[in-house]
Amino acid sequence: MDKTQQEKVRFGGTIRAVQVRSDVWRYRLYNRTHSHKGYNVFLEGVSAGVEGRFSVAISEKQQQRLHLRLGDELTGTAWTKLYPKREYADYYRAGALKVVARGPEPVEGPRPPWTGEVEPLSTYAYRQCRMLDTRRYKGKCFPCKWAAMANAIIEYDFGVSQRLRFESFCYGPKSCPLYTMGRPRAVPYKGMGSDYDEGWLDSDMTAHRDWDE
Ligand code: SF4
Repeated sequence: MDKTQQEKVRFGGTIRAVQVRSDVWRYRLYNRTHSHKGYNVFLEGVSAGVEGRFSVAISEKQQQRLHLRLGDELTGTAWTKLYPKREYADYYRAGALKVVARGPEPVEGPRPPWTGEVEPLSTYAYRQCRMLDTRRYKGKCFPCKWAAMANAIIEYDFGVSQRLRFESFCYGPKSCPLYTMGRPRAVPYKGMGSDYDEGWLDSDMTAHRDWDE
């Protein structure tokens, strides 16, 4: 798709989740790098004149200004994606954002999912994450501020070709009773088949955090 095929759309709806928006770069099992770019806001309402569920990518500055949270009624504009396979959110380059009604004050109970306002991007970068089972992500974890669906790029033939997919992760406490890793994830490389990310990268990346942190 070239830029001339992109469309600016109007949207409005109720926020069902706000999650960190990230890119993940994988190179065999040696490297899994997460870059945190902003947030994905998941809504139920109307976008481009169509009723349903959709998601919009926003920047950290927009989140700092609006403090979006579950139940808020949000309106705005955004653009259709230039690279649909690289971007999990349905729309990006959001603008004219306005909270027309506030949802209930978030009260985080003792049990997950944790539905308070999302944290600054630096917090996610510090915490790092573990792979999260995709069905669990789409189910009980979906409203949690620690859940994320990342845009993953796998270096398949270094500097020559890449594979794209979306991967779910959890930035929450390692003690969370809802956590389940799901199946090991294949990380293919040209001519070498696939290695499987079985979780030791998760352990390494979150080793600096206590069990309940
Ligand atoms: S597993 Fe992770 S994303 Fe799911 S509820 Fe627990 S902390 Fe939140």
